[in-house]
Amino acid sequence: MLLLTGPPGSGKSHQVLQAVRERLASGRFAFRVVAPTATMAEHLRDLFAREGFVFRPSLISTFSGFVENWISGFDTVSAAALDALIEDALAHLDPKEFRSVAALPGFRSALARTIEELSAAGCGADKLDHAASLQVVYRDVEASAGARRMVLDGARLRAAARRIREQGAAGIESIFIDGFFSFTDPELEVIESLCAHSDLTITLPGWQGGEASRERLAAMGFQEQHCEAARRNPRVVLVKARTQDREIDEIAARILAEVRAGRPFREIGIVVRSSDPYVPALSTALERFGIPARFYFASPLARHSLARRVAAAEELDVWRGQTATPPEWVARFGALSCLLPPPTGVDPAEREMAALWRSGASAVRGFEQALCETASRFTPTEKVPFAGFWKELNRVLRLTTLRVADHRRNVVHVMDVLEVRQWELPVVFVCGLIERQFPLYHSQDPILTDEPRARLRVRGVRVATSGERNQAEKFLFDLATTRATDTLVLSYPEFNAKGDETLRSFSLERFLESSPGVQQEQARRVRPVPRGPRPPERRAVILDNELRLWLAQRHATMAPTALEIFLQCPFQFFTAHTLKLEELPAEPEQRFDASVQGKLLHEVLARWIRDRGALEPLFDQVFRETCAREQIPEGYRTEAVRLEMRRNLQRFTGQAVIPGASVSAIEQKLSLPLDDATTLHCRVDRIDSASGGTALIIDYKYSGPQKVAALVKGHEEGTHLQGGIYMLAVKNAGSVLGGMLFAGVRKEPSWDGWHTLPVTIGRAQRCVPQMLHDVMEQSRQTALDAMARIREGVIAPLPVDAKRCQYCACGDICRVESAVGAAAGTEGEQEE
Ligand code: SF4
Repeated sequence: MLLLTGPPGSGKSHQVLQAVRERLASGRFAFRVVAPTATMAEHLRDLFAREGFVFRPSLISTFSGFVENWISGFDTVSAAALDALIEDALAHLDPKEFRSVAALPGFRSALARTIEELSAAGCGADKLDHAASLQVVYRDVEASAGARRMVLDGARLRAAARRIREQGAAGIESIFIDGFFSFTDPELEVIESLCAHSDLTITLPGWQGGEASRERLAAMGFQEQHCEAARRNPRVVLVKARTQDREIDEIAARILAEVRAGRPFREIGIVVRSSDPYVPALSTALERFGIPARFYFASPLARHSLARRVAAAEELDVWRGQTATPPEWVARFGALSCLLPPPTGVDPAEREMAALWRSGASAVRGFEQALCETASRFTPTEKVPFAGFWKELNRVLRLTTLRVADHRRNVVHVMDVLEVRQWELPVVFVCGLIERQFPLYHSQDPILTDEPRARLRVRGVRVATSGERNQAEKFLFDLATTRATDTLVLSYPEFNAKGDETLRSFSLERFLESSPGVQQEQARRVRPVPRGPRPPERRAVILDNELRLWLAQRHATMAPTALEIFLQCPFQFFTAHTLKLEELPAEPEQRFDASVQGKLLHEVLARWIRDRGALEPLFDQVFRETCAREQIPEGYRTEAVRLEMRRNLQRFTGQAVIPGASVSAIEQKLSLPLDDATTLHCRVDRIDSASGGTALIIDYKYSGPQKVAALVKGHEEGTHLQGGIYMLAVKNAGSVLGGMLFAGVRKEPSWDGWHTLPVTIGRAQRCVPQMLHDVMEQSRQTALDAMARIREGVIAPLPVDAKRCQYCACGDICRVESAVGAAAGTEGEQEE
């Protein structure tokens, strides 16, 4: 039994792979290779397959897959099952310490992580003390899982170890265990049980966190062979970029330079500490530069567009309130897979299109499995209400990860530092080297803090403290910097997204001190070469007369707020109001957006003004109705929004009454003929009747005082018109005007606008009737100009306020960056 130790890059894995190759070449298949993750096992299978070896995939597996032969009749507790068990335990045990946060999914996730960590370390609930609430929940989870013939990971490995001791190793002569940083106690028990039946070769990197495992293996009789660090001395370049985007563009440009010099994409890797925040940006940038890349990351199935389309399906409204058996629900939901658009005929299929198809096919398979897992929570014949089945299905979708198969060979490999341990590549980029990003910073686990962890360690349970986890981050940095054989490119951004200066990683400082000759360079400004000839510049305007006629008809009736969208950006108006493109339904955690908050605010204020009852119960009721209607999940964010909105409304309703005026109408619908071809439809939130019977119009905004002031100013600048149009509409209905007020309900309640009443109303200007007339005429003219431009076919992406582009759904299609770049004259920047 051999234990290969040594620093990262000292050739331990190389020795193991050679031994495996020899066995494959001579047809001796009585061996197994055990890797730490499914992706790494897949990587090894691909590696040997590409070298021409033919073998059963099960020869290479994870620990969990390896013990499968000895554990039959017991399922592992899936992430969704664990979440459900914890929810049940919290509901019926109601531990005092967790009471205030028990309903939050984020808390359940944290609790699940702690229980999984304890189980993996071989610590059952019986070993816990000084953590009474955690212990009772953990004990209940263990018992409930056992009753359903499910086991947590640690218990599963221990059961496997027992069976291997009793039954032997099923004829497996050699076992290679490679890529692990250390072993948990249950894993060591499996290893010890195998020692009596097979010849084992294990690799371990030389670092503090692996010391306990090394000692246990030595005590089992493993012969240690120390491997010295290989002297590869790759060229090391340190790149400083102004921003993360510039850093990623620089990486893309360097990859293309390597490829032009003859290096295949597959010899290049990019290493990040974790998927967020680099992976989405890398994915877009590599795509833009035409670089094929494989991303070794999984994402929750709930984020896939199939799951989001199902959540927004009309059928769900029909099924609400119905009951059916689990198989019937599976059949009904299964039919919704057709909501994913089928592949369209592209021949030959482009790479991006093929990736989309693969992703869609994986999502459909994952969705079907998720339905089966959901159904398994119920007895097959019981009548399950829609709400119950839907809640469980949502849980499974949220906690099931989706991996899209990608077997392309010549691709750049993008992976996190944990995945990179079995890789060596000629060129490696390690990016995002700033503090708290790479390395990450680990604070104490709030559920099992460092103190009880230290006590558990004394009793032989190896659970890491925050200090040890931070120590491990240094090791991960060292690991990442040893993966390149020819060129290592380290990089970091100087400024974050807010424009604040970042702090360069201390591990990088340490690396630079011990590595003379590192080339330091500044990232250049680069952009991809166009994939085809640049089409002639065209003005973003519709010239066809028939289409212009159609535009006039389509917009014969309008809301003033739609015209304001045109004033902000013609292209945004074109997509939302002319083409009426729909956005993909928001992800569950994003559903409580500004639009939903605005609707909720209007509904609460309308009902409160009408009934004048207590605000809190009314708010809570409308909030519940909104969450149910919009399918907004409970959680930290939902609760934070609820509390903030309730506070804001409490403050506002204390000042909602205008002195000397009384409410005469709410939610009033009015029309205003703008010209021969256009009528504007208005929905006025509230009209108060003031002295002399004058009408005071009130419009609620869920905005702070500054935004409301900017809105009023916008009427002078020609970017807003709602106030003037509402006044025209009320006047048109036969009222004498007393003013137009905007009520800001966010943060400090604020009133702004124009009025002729003999009182002070917030920041609103007290004025003469002529000024109201001027505001109305200004707004009428702004509206007429905007309508004329709409009919002329103006659709250019020209935002008045570019900051609002970050909230606009059209950002990926309007190419505003190109338009702004062209306008700023930056077209001549260096290209790559
Ligand atoms: S992202 Fe900006 S420029 Fe593009 S459509 Fe939206 S508002 Fe207009």
